[in-house]
Amino acid sequence: MGVPTAGLRAKTRVLADGAVPGVWGFDGSSTGQAEGRSSDRVLRPVFTCADPVRGGDAVLVLCEVENIDFSPHSSNTRAEARGVAERFAEQEAWFGIEQEYTLFRGGRPLGFPEGGGFPAPQGPYYCGVGGGAVFGRELVERHLDYCLAAGLTIAGINAEVMPGQWEFQVGPAGPVEVADHMWVARYLLLRVAEEFGVSVSFDAKPEKGDWNGAGAHTNFSTKAMRESYDPIITACEALGEGDKPAEHVRAYGSGIEDRLTGQHETAPWSEYSYGVSNRGASVRIPWQVEVDKKGYIEDRRPNANVDPYVVTRLIVDTCCSALEK
Ligand code: ADP
Ligand code: MN
Ligand code: MN
Ligand code: MN
Ligand code: MN
Repeated sequence: MGVPTAGLRAKTRVLADGAVPGVWGFDGSSTGQAEGRSSDRVLRPVFTCADPVRGGDAVLVLCEVENIDFSPHSSNTRAEARGVAERFAEQEAWFGIEQEYTLFRGGRPLGFPEGGGFPAPQGPYYCGVGGGAVFGRELVERHLDYCLAAGLTIAGINAEVMPGQWEFQVGPAGPVEVADHMWVARYLLLRVAEEFGVSVSFDAKPEKGDWNGAGAHTNFSTKAMRESYDPIITACEALGEGDKPAEHVRAYGSGIEDRLTGQHETAPWSEYSYGVSNRGASVRIPWQVEVDKKGYIEDRRPNANVDPYVVTRLIVDTCCSALEK
């Protein structure tokens, strides 16, 4: 079950002073995106921000991949997300994505003894403070500094339930914008980890056993949901309709059955549910939203390794179609 896991690649281009980054290309046969005999693929700049790693007037340029006839490449999930976002633009969808990840050194999560054995059970680590509770603080703080310097819409960071596991949140922003910022924030995380000689895992269940997995809870609202309660319920019901739970879960990242077991603050992947304040449901309505009778919902199912363009496209398609009626 699941779709291939999308990743990141980068290369550097030196331009004349003041030049605007234009269309570029790369060797698709080296990335699994082309055959050797017809290997050129097109890079089309779609989002640009300051490059806090290189500094100066350097910029980071996020690109869509196209074929040489300028049609979207089959791996280009952003193109499809753009189409769906445009179709429902008048509903003003917002997303906030909570990206969990695990830092590794020497094949083990930070905070796990290098020689073998295990740290004390989960409990003190979530939002922990102090040398015995959190591992990798300096790296995590530098990542936040980079994201802010790049001008990304980043909402916060926290230490997670398993040692060496952390989270940052991107949003609220529109369906394409939140995913653009997420990919650049992931890029900056991978770069900052290089500086520390640490590796980043987006694996959904990096440690088997009694350790929390890593997700990408996706918070979602439309203008109508931000104004009243009925649309909140409509959205929750739409996500549970017919084949929708299976369609979503299949696209919510690799290894979904390993993480959505029904334990460790998850709902079983095979059963859709929603509820107020319920961290054991597929979709949670935050308690404050029920009190205020307006706000947003949290889809807790996406894995940490999910492609955010796929999640936001599916949620907009499913929920905005239902809300349109
Ligand atoms: P949790 O309590 O589940 O850990 P977080 O505080 O980590 O929640 O993340 C909540 C996310 O929801 C943030 O990214 C925030 O920007 C986003 N958010 C807040 N309000 C809305 C809204 N109306 N629509 C969509 N996302 C929202
Ligand atoms: Mn070359
Ligand atoms: Mn969170
Ligand atoms: Mn979390
Ligand atoms: Mn959450």
